[in-house]
Amino acid sequence: MKTRVIFLGPPGAGKGTYASRIMERLNIPQISTGDLLREAIRNRTEIGIKAEEYVSQGKLVPDDIVIEILKQRLAKDDCKNGFILDGFPRTIEQAKALDNITHIDLVINLVVPDEIIVKRLSSRIICKRCGAVYNLITLPPKKEGICDKCGGPLYQREDDKPEVIMQRLDVYKKQTAPLVEYYRNRGILVDIVCDKVDTPPEEVVDRIIKIMR
Ligand code: ADP
Ligand code: AMP
Repeated sequence: MKTRVIFLGPPGAGKGTYASRIMERLNIPQISTGDLLREAIRNRTEIGIKAEEYVSQGKLVPDDIVIEILKQRLAKDDCKNGFILDGFPRTIEQAKALDNITHIDLVINLVVPDEIIVKRLSSRIICKRCGAVYNLITLPPKKEGICDKCGGPLYQREDDKPEVIMQRLDVYKKQTAPLVEYYRNRGILVDIVCDKVDTPPEEVVDRIIKIMR
């Protein structure tokens, strides 16, 4: 079983949606640097204060900050049997740093057309308390505005507004997309193409778990 896994793909590709479901099914932690940064921003930590201006503008937070956060998270006990990295690495520099921290078994590359991404991100809502991800159009919560899992309030991320979405897609193409070739050349990358807006998440999750096995 391949349990040290990276989920690669543009913002809105479904990384968090699939990683959270796999975490529940296989008991492997989902590590989202975006979630860790949002938590730091909410708690007004030193890192959070530094990161905020980048996140709100849809730019990447400097490598040294994110690498340090990731390193600390991977050192925790629950990562010893594996992990799913969701949103890290996002630059070649981060990928090289990761090579010095741990070994990666598999990279799942989610391939999703831009028009689906824009639709999904502009209708994404997340739970303020537990970070669970919903979609107003495709995956609505049972009760409007309330998280199915923890009862927390749902909100739209600041960076899911139209201007910032376009900026994030641009950043992905320029800074993160080169990682596809980086990992493909190593022979550990598998593409998963999702070109329909309504493919049920469980269907994609089943495909990914088969590849992990
Ligand atoms: P990422 O973590 O890659 O940025 P998310 O997992 O947050 O992406 O997904 C973006 C949005 O698209 C969310 O609102 C999510 O609910 C929705 N979504 C993702 N995958 C699917 C799917 N297969 N079917 C329907 N909606 C989806
Ligand atoms: P995400 O939740 O993955 O969409 O990330 C939200 C935002 O957090 C991004 O637009 C970046 O500003 C920042 N971020 C998350 N992960 C990273 C990373 N690995 N490197 C740099 N910035 C990141």
